[in-house]
Amino acid sequence: MSIQDFYKELRTFKPEEITKFSKWVLSYTKLKGKEFSFDKHEYQEAILDDTHPMIVIKKCVQVGVSEVLIRKLLAFLSMYQGTQVIYTFPTADEVSKFVKSRVDPAIKDCSKIKELGFNTDNVKIKQIGQSFAHFKGTYGERETIAVPSDYNIHDEIDFSKPDIQNLYRSRLEHSSFAWEMDCSTPTIPGYGIDFMFEESDQKYWHIKCPHCNVWQELIWLPDKDKEELYNIRKIKNEWTYVCKKCVKRIEYSPDMKMEWVTKYPEKKDAHGYYLGPCTAWGYKKAARIIKSFYNYKELDQAYNRVLGLAYTDPGKKLTRDVITRCWNNDLTIQRTGRNCFMAADQGPPSWAMVAEYDNERDKIKVLRIEKIDRNMFDQVGKSGEKISGRFSELMDQFDVQSAVIDAQPNTESAYQFAKNHAGRVHICFYSDRQLNKLVWKEEEFVVIANRTRSLDYAMQYWIDRRIEIFPENSANYQVYEALIKHLTGMVKVIDEDEHGQQKAMWKGHKDKTHFAHVWNYLCMAIESDVNIVNRVIDPSISGFSIPK
Ligand SMILES: [Zn+2]
Repeated sequence: MSIQDFYKELRTFKPEEITKFSKWVLSYTKLKGKEFSFDKHEYQEAILDDTHPMIVIKKCVQVGVSEVLIRKLLAFLSMYQGTQVIYTFPTADEVSKFVKSRVDPAIKDCSKIKELGFNTDNVKIKQIGQSFAHFKGTYGERETIAVPSDYNIHDEIDFSKPDIQNLYRSRLEHSSFAWEMDCSTPTIPGYGIDFMFEESDQKYWHIKCPHCNVWQELIWLPDKDKEELYNIRKIKNEWTYVCKKCVKRIEYSPDMKMEWVTKYPEKKDAHGYYLGPCTAWGYKKAARIIKSFYNYKELDQAYNRVLGLAYTDPGKKLTRDVITRCWNNDLTIQRTGRNCFMAADQGPPSWAMVAEYDNERDKIKVLRIEKIDRNMFDQVGKSGEKISGRFSELMDQFDVQSAVIDAQPNTESAYQFAKNHAGRVHICFYSDRQLNKLVWKEEEFVVIANRTRSLDYAMQYWIDRRIEIFPENSANYQVYEALIKHLTGMVKVIDEDEHGQQKAMWKGHKDKTHFAHVWNYLCMAIESDVNIVNRVIDPSISGFSIPK
C-alpha cells in the first residue's frame, strides 16, 4: 500500500459532539498547567471558531497568537480524526524549537489527546489518534512534504520562502476542508501578510466605552500631532487608556462589550484579523507599549513588532550635512583614553576606525580614521620574529577593548588576528536569513549580522547626532572625504533577494561604501560591551515620517 493510499483510508471523518473549536480548547487544553481561559484574551475565541477556509492574521508580538494556532491545530486534528495538517515556520531550526517548547507541552497537557493516543517522539510528525500534524521549515529543508493535507498553517510567513503558500496549496486539492491560515508580524507595506490582510475583509477588535457607549478600535501611533485620534494619553504623568470620544480613562473589565468588527464584509475570499498591541489591552499596560516601542533602535522594527504594522523607509540616506555636523574641534573633550573600540575592513586598501564611547554624554567619539595600504595583519619575519601588522598596532596604541573586522576575503588571516587578541576581536559575517540583528559566537570569535538591520542601527547614530569626530589635522583630509563619500553612497531600497523575496536593504557601489561597513562594525564592537546603555529613538526628532 502506498503512503498516499494509507492516508486516504484513514480519512473517515467522525466529528464528535463538540463542534466548536473554542469549546474543545476550553474543555481539554491547559496553558502552563492551568485551565485555558479567554479572560483578557477574548479576541482569541472568534479566531478559533472561524471556519472560513482562508484566514489571515496580521499581528504584533506577544498577543498569544501561537497559543491560538497550536490549539486550533490540535482541536482540528482531534475533532476530525483521519485528517492531516501541515504547519510551516521560516527555518528548520525554528520549527524544531517551536515544536519542542510549544507544541509538545500542549499535547501532553491535553486530556482528549491522551484518550485518542498520541506520539510526540518525532519533531517533524505528530500523531494524534488517527490524525497527523507535519511540521516543516521553509528554509534549511531538503524537500517539501509530499503528503495530502486538509489544513495548511504558515506561521511568520513574511520571513518564509516567498512561494510557500503555492508550494503547499496543491497538497489541499483532494481535501473536503482545504483550509489555509497565514500569520505573521508584517514587514514591508504591501508585501506578504500586509498585502494579504489588505485583500481580506479586515476585522478589527472594537470595544464599547463604558462612559459614552461609543464603539471604537483601541489604537496608538507615535505621532504627537494627532494625539486626539489615539487611545493612549499621558494623564497625571502616567500613560493611560482613554476613550477617543469622551477622553475619560477606561479600564479593562471582562463584562465590557467587545467584538470583532469587519471593515469590508463584501470581501469574501479571506477573513483577516489585525492584532495590534491594544487588542491585548486587558494585560498589556499602556506604558509598556510606549516603552517597548521606543526601546527599539530601528524604527521599522518598532512598527513591525510592537505595533504589528508594516513600515519601511526606502530612499533613506545620510547627507553630507548630517555627517559634517558631527565634526567637533573642541579638543578639551576629545578623549579620555577609556572604552576604545576599533573596526576595519580587509581591503587592500583597508579602512580603519578607532573610537571611544563617552558614557556620560552618550556619544561615540571617533579618534582615528585611517587608510591602510599594506601590512594589515601580523606577519612572521625571516628569522621567525613576529612583525605586528597595523591592526595590532592600533589595538595596542589605543588599548582597544573590543574590535570587529570584516571576515572576508582573507578569512584565515582575520581569524588568526582574532585568535591573537582572543576575546577582544570578532570577525563579522553578514547574513540576511538571520532575523536577529547580531548573533555573537564567542568560541569562534565570530559575529553574524543581519545586514539591513545592523546598518539601519548604525546609520541612525548619525541621524541622531550621537557621534563626534575630531579631525586630527588637515593633512589627512582625504580620508575624511572618503568617509563622507562612503557613508552617503548608501541608499535604502526595496529589492528582491535571491529567493525573490522583497526586502528592504542598503545598496551602494561596492568600491565606494567601505566606510559604511566599517562604521557598522564599529557600532557592533561598541555594542559588544554590555555596559553600553540601550538608547531610545524618538521619531519626532529624527526626521522620520509617520505612515498614515
Ligand atoms: Zn467614551
